Amino acid sequence: MARIPFDLAGKTVYVAGHRGMVGSALVRRLERENVELLSAKRTEVDLRDQSAVNRWFADNRPQVVFLAAAKVGGIAANNTLRGEFIYDNLIVATNVIHAAHVHGTEKLMFLGSSCIYPKHAPQPLSEDRLLTGPLEPTNEPYAIAKIAGLKLAEAYRSQYGSDFVCVMPTNLYGQGDNYHPEYSHVVAALIRRFHDAKTSGASNVVVWGTGTPRREFLFVDDLADACIHLMKIYSSHELVNIGTGEDITIAEFARVVAAAVGYIGDISFDSSRPDGTPRKLLDVSRLAKLGWRAQTTLEDGIKRAYRAFLLESK
Ligand code: GDP
Repeated sequence: MARIPFDLAGKTVYVAGHRGMVGSALVRRLERENVELLSAKRTEVDLRDQSAVNRWFADNRPQVVFLAAAKVGGIAANNTLRGEFIYDNLIVATNVIHAAHVHGTEKLMFLGSSCIYPKHAPQPLSEDRLLTGPLEPTNEPYAIAKIAGLKLAEAYRSQYGSDFVCVMPTNLYGQGDNYHPEYSHVVAALIRRFHDAKTSGASNVVVWGTGTPRREFLFVDDLADACIHLMKIYSSHELVNIGTGEDITIAEFARVVAAAVGYIGDISFDSSRPDGTPRKLLDVSRLAKLGWRAQTTLEDGIKRAYRAFLLESK
């Protein structure tokens, strides 16, 4: 079971979801460690296909697994593609966690999300608020799948002694984000919308909802750094939140993005669009006790994300 500190050096490491925003940040960070990175292309293994996943694990036998593969999206994607969000996320978590168990993976990290916590739980959200109340309806299917995944990892740890740990990142942004106009998260959506407005000379940009919800945003390379840190020094059935410990209203956030992009026009709010959960700030005291805190300020991170957007959209 738990070996602390866990030495990554010389290990074979599989990042499930290595092409996504989180997985690719983990790969960038792991390139600074002395590990052998394994990857499985989507054409090679569809993580929703149990036999393909088992075959790949039997052939490659990764010693370490980061489970960052997930179907993700913003409030509209979660609320519209409800069936896909629950099915894909349940089956990917089940297939990968079970295969890691069967094929002798030494340690696995499952990445969840701050939306697993009840909609009206006291803020900041501490790890022990899990399953203490109803979820935010717009992302309930995704949250249920993530809760099932973390409970699966926890149950395997309890029954089989598997060294499986679960972390819960807050809202993320950075290189490799999805800029889909309807289905992206708010950071990518606003980077794109303010950029388009600046380029076309538009005088107004519409932001969804009332602007009053509060969100916490973590730069994805900081998340990757926290995950590697925890992989090495943490082993317990208890979840660990990963965030900055600071939040901001969507209206204030829109101004941060406008400034980073260089948009100087007006900003208006479309309250026919859902606000989602009123506030989602993680309690990061457990993470702080484990010796990690975020390094990138929001202003700096958004400027870096905007530069990445410009390169990615070339
Ligand atoms: P959430 O944290 O799960 O609600 O995910 P999102 O990143 O999609 O949304 C965060 C907040 O930003 C919500 O209150 C949205 O209504 C608000 N928001 C404002 N403009 C946009 C937009 O253009 N796209 C998205 N996805 N959210 C927006």
